[in-house]
Amino acid sequence: MSELAELERKVKEFINKVSSDFGVSTPKVRFARPADVAGWYDEYGKEIVLNSECVNLGTVLHEFAHHLQNLRGVLARVSREEFGKVHCERGFEREAKGFAAAYQDFYRDTWKKIVGVESGALPR
Ligand SMILES: [Zn+2]
Repeated sequence: MSELAELERKVKEFINKVSSDFGVSTPKVRFARPADVAGWYDEYGKEIVLNSECVNLGTVLHEFAHHLQNLRGVLARVSREEFGKVHCERGFEREAKGFAAAYQDFYRDTWKKIVGVESGALPR
């Protein structure tokens, strides 16, 4: 298994664990190489997409927060005005940031145990 495929497998295992902790369905997970973002969440496919160049705990928790919001129906209710705001000022983004910050310490050991690296520092 390639190093990247191995990292993807471990990250999926980590997300399975977090999903089970929260008692929710596990989102799909996919690695990609977007030019300018660390990751995003696709609410229709219920999929977390991670930039394989910078996989880290903070990003995974942030995108998982969007999965929880999606399951609560929050993302479907986001208004046009909300999307017109600067990214960081959107309410659901503030919440996702808060979630990642709140759970980062809690999940640090689990992340290290399962994924083994602080970030996906893979060779280019
Ligand atoms: Zn976000």
